[in-house]
Amino acid sequence: MWDASEKTLYSVIVFLVLETLLELYLTMRQIRVYKQSKTVPKELQHVMNNEKFEKARLYGLDKAYYSIFKMVLCDILILQLELVYGFMVLVWARSVEISTTIGLNPKSEVQVGCLFALLLNVVGMLKDMPFKIYNTFVLEEKHGFNKQTAGFFVKDQIKAFVLGQILTIPIAAVFIYIVQIGGQYFFVWLWVFVAAVSLLLITIYPVYIAPIFDKFRPLEEGELKQSIHDLASSVKFPLGQLFVVEGSKRSAHSNAYFTGLFGVKRIVLFDTLLVNKGLPEDDPSLTESDKGKGCKNEEVLAVLAHELGHWKLGHVAKNIVIVQVQLFLIFLAFSQLFTYGPLYEAIGLPAGEKPILIGFMVIVMYVLAPYNTLITCIMTVLSRRFEYQADAFAQQLGYAKDLGNALIKLQLDNLGFPVYDWMYSSWNHSHPTVLQRLDRLKTISQGKDKPKSQ
Ligand SMILES: [Zn+2]
Repeated sequence: MWDASEKTLYSVIVFLVLETLLELYLTMRQIRVYKQSKTVPKELQHVMNNEKFEKARLYGLDKAYYSIFKMVLCDILILQLELVYGFMVLVWARSVEISTTIGLNPKSEVQVGCLFALLLNVVGMLKDMPFKIYNTFVLEEKHGFNKQTAGFFVKDQIKAFVLGQILTIPIAAVFIYIVQIGGQYFFVWLWVFVAAVSLLLITIYPVYIAPIFDKFRPLEEGELKQSIHDLASSVKFPLGQLFVVEGSKRSAHSNAYFTGLFGVKRIVLFDTLLVNKGLPEDDPSLTESDKGKGCKNEEVLAVLAHELGHWKLGHVAKNIVIVQVQLFLIFLAFSQLFTYGPLYEAIGLPAGEKPILIGFMVIVMYVLAPYNTLITCIMTVLSRRFEYQADAFAQQLGYAKDLGNALIKLQLDNLGFPVYDWMYSSWNHSHPTVLQRLDRLKTISQGKDKPKSQ
């Protein structure tokens, strides 16, 4: 018969494989939709011609085949091999060895833990790199979305990696230290620490971190800027600065968002959202293919009215509270489970060895995997509800038509395919599809026109 550690290992593997098989099945269903859809949905026929539809179809199909390849290779093959052959334990053993060579104390779990985190991150980055390169320079390139040069890509990756280490290694050190000295209720202190760090990061990210990666410029004075300020003050949104980010250096996908936790907030528009990237028509940096793309002012305002809806309806605050409660529950579960020996033996550690970081990763990534899946599902459903509510907010401000047009335009500019398998969409999409949103906008707009007695 199997012992407790083998049972743990095999149940984790079975669950992870089953989940990947479900995702593969859903992707196959969507591939069938790509293959069978031959005509533009009637709601889009006035804006989407057959040629554009066919382009979006081929783009979607390519992405779906690629995700199947990646799932089979990473989630079924590599991940399970790593579990069976105790990959994490190998990295831990290397960390102990290296710490001796470079003069750290191999008996200090904090020091070895920091090295372990660094090594895991290096291996993780190397594992990811071929996929990132393929995705950017083959897949997106083929469909005309990639705007990155090799130089920009390399610099971007180095910056992201260095910043990642500056953040994760000290956090890992404090994490281990708190578990070591925190006593019976260490999970409470862990939660206070991580909650404080995450709120701090949300606050400083837009001001200090985002500009490391992308260029931000203030939105030019003019009609659009004035209208945005008017819109913001009409719903009492504490708007500070308005920025345009050169998202177009990265990719041609377009969007808008706002940041700032407390007090004054900033709104950031992707340059690809704006007509001619928000520049004068004769600006030398505009290429022929950029010209004429993007949304008209009223449509940009409609997109922002939707974003302001997220703020006014408390979606941002609600999401933060949900994340913090989640963290608390995860740390609580960790505190109850982390002394259980078979968890460590399951991935190949000798009996009695229980490194804190490994315990945490095994519990969060593997033992809690079913719970994580459930929560992700609930959050996806909730997110779609929030999207409909924000759309309704924009509609109440009188932007139903412009928002509809903007959604269509963004869909076309991003070469999004409009037809989805319902099961695939329910599992994967944090936003309702464009057709669903247009349909809902139409319904609520009509509802509003009806006499009050109904
Ligand atoms: Zn939204």
